[in-house]
Amino acid sequence: MAKQMILVPDIGEYADIPVIEVLVKVGERIEKEQALLVLESDKATMEVPADVAGTITSLVIKLGDKVSKGSVIAEIEVADSAAPIGVSQPAPQPAAQVSPAVAIPSTPPVTALNQYSGKVDHECEVLVLGAGPGGYSAAFRSADLGMNTILVERFATLGGVCLNVGCIPSKALLHTTAVMDEVKTMSHHGITYGEPVIDMNQLRAYKDGVIAKLTGGLAGMAKARKVKVVRGLGRFLDANHVEVEMTNGEGQEPTGQKEVIRFQKAIIAVGSQPVKLPFLPVDPRIVDSTGALLLKSIPKRMLVIGGGIIGLEMATVYSTLGARIDIAEMLDGLMAGADRDLEKVWEKFNSGRFERVMLKTRATKAQVTDKGIEVTFEGENAPAEPQTYDLVLVAVGRSPNGKKISAAAAGIDVDERGFISVDRQMRTNVPNIFAIGDLIGQPMLAHKAVHEGHVAAEAAAGHKSYFDAKQIPSVAYTDPEVAWAGMTEEQCKAQGIAYEKGLFPWAASGRAIANGRDEGFTKLIFDATSKRIIGGGIVGTHAGDLIGEVCLAIEMGADAVDIGKTIHPHPTLGESVGLAAEAALGHCTDLPPVKKK
Ligand code: FAD
Repeated sequence: MAKQMILVPDIGEYADIPVIEVLVKVGERIEKEQALLVLESDKATMEVPADVAGTITSLVIKLGDKVSKGSVIAEIEVADSAAPIGVSQPAPQPAAQVSPAVAIPSTPPVTALNQYSGKVDHECEVLVLGAGPGGYSAAFRSADLGMNTILVERFATLGGVCLNVGCIPSKALLHTTAVMDEVKTMSHHGITYGEPVIDMNQLRAYKDGVIAKLTGGLAGMAKARKVKVVRGLGRFLDANHVEVEMTNGEGQEPTGQKEVIRFQKAIIAVGSQPVKLPFLPVDPRIVDSTGALLLKSIPKRMLVIGGGIIGLEMATVYSTLGARIDIAEMLDGLMAGADRDLEKVWEKFNSGRFERVMLKTRATKAQVTDKGIEVTFEGENAPAEPQTYDLVLVAVGRSPNGKKISAAAAGIDVDERGFISVDRQMRTNVPNIFAIGDLIGQPMLAHKAVHEGHVAAEAAAGHKSYFDAKQIPSVAYTDPEVAWAGMTEEQCKAQGIAYEKGLFPWAASGRAIANGRDEGFTKLIFDATSKRIIGGGIVGTHAGDLIGEVCLAIEMGADAVDIGKTIHPHPTLGESVGLAAEAALGHCTDLPPVKKK
C-alpha cells in the first residue's frame, strides 16, 4: 500500500471552478474512474474521476471550494493492483434488473423547513416540473383524471430531450441514412442509383420539421386538456410551492420575472444531461449528442467517445453521410447490456463501416490544434500516436438533474449523484411529491419515463397504481437494429437462473431472405422451471418494432406453447418470434430436425 495525492486533471480552459458536489468520503474505497467531485462553471457541469483505485485517507476539498488543474482533491492509499483499464466504468444497468430505488416514504421534515408565505401567482392540484416524455405524460394523465394541472418547462417546446434532442431527431436521421444504405444494395437486385447528393440544409429542415410536428402536437394536446403550461426554470421553495424564473427565446434566457405556484401534489420530471469529460477543451468541434444532432457539417474524420447506444446511433448516421469514424470504448464490448451474441451480429455486419473500433481504450487528453482536435488514447487498442479529428462526439452517459431544483427546500432527499429515490408509486420521501424518468435511475429511456409518469399521476389521484413492470425493453436503432427485453442470457448466468432458449436464425426466414437481410436472429429465453418466457433478444432490421411482442409475452407470463401456437402472419419478420418459440419446444418445421439423443 502506498499513499498518493489525487489532483484535479487538465480541465481545459477552466480555472477556479466551484465544487458543487463531493461524491466520496474519508475511508471510502474507490475505483479508478469513479467520480469524486462535480464542478460547475457557467458553461458546463463536469465530473472529476479518480485516476487510481484505493481508499481515501483524507479529503482536502470541500463543497464550495474553487479548483483548477492541479488542485489537490484527496489523499489515497493505493491498492497494490490498480484496476485494469476499462473494468471500472459502470455498465448501464440492464433493464430487467432495474426498478426504481425503493424508499420507505417517511414524514418529511417540513416543519423544520422554512414555509413560504409570500405572494402566489398560480394554484393547482398537481404541478409537474419538466415536460419531457415523463413530465408531459404525467401532466396529461393527471388532467385526464380530473385534476387541475400545471406543467412547468424551461424551454419553448414540450417534449424534453426525447422529442427535441434525443429519440426523435436521431431516428429521423437514422431513417434517412438507412434508406441511403439500402439504396446502395439495390445494385444486387439489378437496380442501380447514382451517388447521393446531400443537401444538409434540407436534411436539417426535415429533421426540425419532424420535431416541430410532434412538439406542436403536444402543445395542442396540453391546451385540449386545459393543462396550463408555465414557461420557466422551476425550483422548490417548500413542499407546496415552486418558484419559476420565467424564460424566453429558443433557449432558457431568463426574463427577470418570477412567479410562484402553490400545489397540492408535485411530480418532478426534470430528466438528465450529458456527462462531460473534464479533460476536453471547450471548442465547437467537441460536442455531445445535442451538438451532433445539429448536423452543422459532415466532418472528414470523427471520433465517437463511448460505444453505447447513443454513440453508435450517431456514428451510424455520420458514417453514412460520409465521415470516417473512430470509436473509443473503455469496456471490452460495445452496446453494454445486450447479450454478446446479438452485438456480434451487428459488429460483423458493420465491420467495414468504421475505421477503428477501439475497445478497452479511453481518450485521455485532447488539445485544439490548427488541424483539428488532437486526441491521445490509452488502453489495449490505443493508437501509438495522437489522432486528429474534425469532430469529437462525447457520448459517455447522462447524469440526473436532481441537484438543480432546490429539492432540499421541500425536504426531498437527493443522492450524491443527483438521483431521487422513490417507492413503487413513484413517491419520494416527501409524501405529496413524486419523481419519475431519467431522474430516478437507469435505464434512462423514454418509455420507462412515460410509464412512470402514468403511475405517478394515478397515485397522486389516489389510485392503487404501482410500478410493477416485468421488463423494460432496450433498442439500439443501428443497422441492423439490436433489441432486447427482460432477462438476458448473461443476467441469467450471473444470477444462477436456470433457463432454456429458443433461437430462430433469420437465414431460415423467407421474408428476411426476400429483403436481402438475413444476418439476424430472434431468441427467446424461458425459465427452466416455470417454462414461462422471461426474456428475449432480436438482431436484424426492424428488431425494435419486433421486440414489442416479446415484451407483451413476458408481461402476460406466456410460455413457448402460447407463443408458438399463436398464428403469425407469413411472410413477416414477426413470424420469427413464433418460430423461436417452436425452436425452444424442439419442433420447428422451418428448421432442420433436432437430432435425437
Ligand atoms: P427529459 O426528456 O430529460 O425532460 C426533462 C425536461 O425537464 C426537459 O424538457 C427540461 O428542459 C426540463 N427541466 C429540467 N429542469 C427544469 C427546471 N428546473 N424547470 C423547468 N423545466 C426543467 N430513449 C428511448 O427510449 N428511445 C430512444 O430511441 C432514445 N434515443 C435517445 C437519443 C439521444 C441522442 C438521447 C440523448 C436520448 C435518447 N433517449 C432515448 C433517452 C430519452 O430521451 C430519455 O430517457 C427521456 O427523454 C427521459 O425523459 P424524462 O421525462 O425523464 O426527461
